[in-house]
Amino acid sequence: MSENGICRLCLQEKELLKQSHIIPNFMFKEIKDEKNRFFQFESKDIIEKKDRKKALQTGYFESNLLCKNCDNSILGGYERYGANSLYSPKIKNGPIVEGLVDTHGNRAFKVSNIDYVKFKLFLLSILWRASISSHIFFSEVNLGPHEEKIRKMILDHNAKSDLDYPIIFGSILGNNTHFENYISQPRMFKFNEHKLVLFVITGIYYGFVVSSYVRDKESLKSRLNQKNELIMSHIPKGKDVEHFLKIIGIK
Ligand SMILES: [Zn+2]
Repeated sequence: MSENGICRLCLQEKELLKQSHIIPNFMFKEIKDEKNRFFQFESKDIIEKKDRKKALQTGYFESNLLCKNCDNSILGGYERYGANSLYSPKIKNGPIVEGLVDTHGNRAFKVSNIDYVKFKLFLLSILWRASISSHIFFSEVNLGPHEEKIRKMILDHNAKSDLDYPIIFGSILGNNTHFENYISQPRMFKFNEHKLVLFVITGIYYGFVVSSYVRDKESLKSRLNQKNELIMSHIPKGKDVEHFLKIIGIK
C-alpha cells in the first residue's frame, strides 16, 4: 500500500513512492558482480586503509521521500542527462573529453560541451538526496540550512552561478586500485572556511563545496563552470583521497 505524505522536493501532499534511489545505478553499474551485487566502503575502512568491502544487493533506496512527479520527471530528467551525456554517451554533440598534461607531468581530463545547468543540478540532486536520506551510509552528509537552498535550486531548475555550491572533480581511473571499483561512504571535510562533501563513485571524486560565500580561488579553478567545462585532475596511483584533498587545499 502506498502512503500519502509530504514530498520532500515539492513539499506538497502526494502519494509517496515506495522506493526512491539516492545514487542512480548507472553511475556504478559496471561494478556490479555476477550476482548483481555491488560493493561499498565505509569511512572507517578508508581511514584505516582496510580493504574491507561490503556487498550490497539492493542499492541505496529509501521509501516515502518523494512523489512520482518529482522522482520520475524532475530528478529523472536530470538523471537522463547525466546518464546519456557522460556515463554512457548517447546524445549527439555531447561532452568532449580530452586528456591534458601540464609541464610538471600532472595529468587531467578536460570535459567541455557539458550542459552546466543540467549536469550541476544532476549532481546537486544526489548531494541533496544523500542529505535528506536517513540511510546510515549517508550519515555524514548533512547540509543544514543549505539543504533547503539546494532543494529550491533543484525544483526551480536554477543552477545559479558556478560559485554557488561549486563542484570539483578528481579521477583515479586507470590506476587499477580497489577504489576504482567501489563506492565509498560520502565524507565531510573542512575546506578553508567552508565544508566539502566528498563522494567517490567508481574512480571519480565529486567534491561539493557547501557554503554561502565562496570566492574565486585557485583551488576551485577546475570546477564545473558556466562555460560548460570542468577539469578532472588525475590522482596518481597510491595517492588516493589524501592527494585529492591536497590538490584542493585541505591537507
Ligand atoms: Zn513532489
